[in-house]
Amino acid sequence: MTASVSTAPFPFDNSYARLPGGFYAPAVPTPVAAPALIKVNAALAEELGLDPQALASPEAVEMFAGSRVPDGAEPIALAYAGHQFGQFVPQLGDGRAILLGEVVGRNGRRDIQLKGSGPTPFSRRGDGRAGLGPVLREYIVSEAMAALGIPTTRALAAVTTGEPVWRERALPGAVLARVAASHIRIGTFQFFAARRDTPALRQLADYTIARHYPDLAGAARPHLALLEAVIGRQAELVARWLNVGFIHGVMNTDNMSVSGETIDYGPCAFMDAYDPETVFSSIDQMGRYAYANQPDIAHWNLARFAECLVPLLDDDKEAAVAAANAALSAFPARFKGAYRAGLLAKIGLDDVNEEDVALALDLLAVMAAGKADFTLTFRRLGPAAEDAAALEGVRDLFLDREAFDAWADRWRARLATGGREGAQVRAGMDRVNPLFIPRNHLVEWAITAATEDGDFAPFEALTAALAHPYEEQPRFAPYAGLPPQMEGYRTFCGT
Ligand code: AMP
Ligand code: MG
Repeated sequence: MTASVSTAPFPFDNSYARLPGGFYAPAVPTPVAAPALIKVNAALAEELGLDPQALASPEAVEMFAGSRVPDGAEPIALAYAGHQFGQFVPQLGDGRAILLGEVVGRNGRRDIQLKGSGPTPFSRRGDGRAGLGPVLREYIVSEAMAALGIPTTRALAAVTTGEPVWRERALPGAVLARVAASHIRIGTFQFFAARRDTPALRQLADYTIARHYPDLAGAARPHLALLEAVIGRQAELVARWLNVGFIHGVMNTDNMSVSGETIDYGPCAFMDAYDPETVFSSIDQMGRYAYANQPDIAHWNLARFAECLVPLLDDDKEAAVAAANAALSAFPARFKGAYRAGLLAKIGLDDVNEEDVALALDLLAVMAAGKADFTLTFRRLGPAAEDAAALEGVRDLFLDREAFDAWADRWRARLATGGREGAQVRAGMDRVNPLFIPRNHLVEWAITAATEDGDFAPFEALTAALAHPYEEQPRFAPYAGLPPQMEGYRTFCGT
């Protein structure tokens, strides 16, 4: 059965479908039994220049469920490869996602992709479907990341299908309409590099430059400039993750976007108590993608990206490899600079110098030893920049309070030499230290209510709270409190 055609609620312009056939396979979404709307992201729709009401119409809901292919859409599944947990897989591709097409809105070109809309030529043994739980998790967490100001794919809409998906048990099926700057991954480059298809690689690189780094088109060596730019964006991105306690969980090269957006919200989760070794993903048994490993893994992934680009960098292979290595060697300093600036801002300091960095890192050490909540420690420090009495609320978060007190004395003394008003320091801290993050117990609560009782009120309330992570929101105060103990909490890839 193929989906029927209807008028699109917006015009599509599908530049990826104009690339050669090897880049993708045509793939039509599979119609579902009973499409029903969970939510349209009105704020995002407006950003894209789309009418949120039109997106909630029965025709649009059918489109989001995959039951209708709108005019102008050219649904395709993208080809890619990737290193999964260090092992190269030459053929992956969109197995449970279909790119409906691209829309050109106020902020440029965006992919609209359906995740969970049925099998594609790349599905291998998978069903191409998604359960309601993973769809809600991606909606909640990706939108929380956007509100935190971190580059990410977005959630435009979510629908239920009225059909079960079979995992260990039957779960309600759902589809997520995801919006991304593009879906070009490091693995997309690896797909062609593994086939030694240099013309295709060149075409992909040029397409990526035109779409994501147009300023580089005129560079003396545009492909080297592309490598450097992607390295820069990934370094900045991972620094942002660390500074909010985010653990991606499955940083395979097929899950790393060359646009620098966070993509693929499978087993991701935020850390509660600070522990650099935190791992949530059930399949990450070696802790490869643990919180503190993320910069090294990003660097490793970028080395795989650089390898792909070597044939484009110079006719002389040795010179090409040297250029790639020189670009890669910039990653650690680039990451460190971004991470440290972000970390210092979290304790109200803005000049990156070794002494202040040592002070900030000492806090992290005290937090780790004292099992202090990452998010609340930083958030509650803000008021203490203004008034030492507020330190009480921070020290309560630590098992070893004396160690925190000793650190706090040093911090207050340092702030006193900074010459800025406490209120001003606090305001700056409150802008970078969120109060609301998608905590594991809250995400699970929203998913359980929806999956087991068909109750979407917790999902609605949580997404509303997370849309303003840096603001005090008294009506959502319970979501900002200390989480319950969640020893052994595990997340799954969402397949
Ligand atoms: P991920 O772990 O989400 O990055 O997925 C890795 C690969 O498995 C991608 O190529 C996916 O398209 C594919 N995949 C994951 N789940 C399914 C599914 N239910 N059906 C078909 N393909 C899937
Ligand atoms: Mg993936």
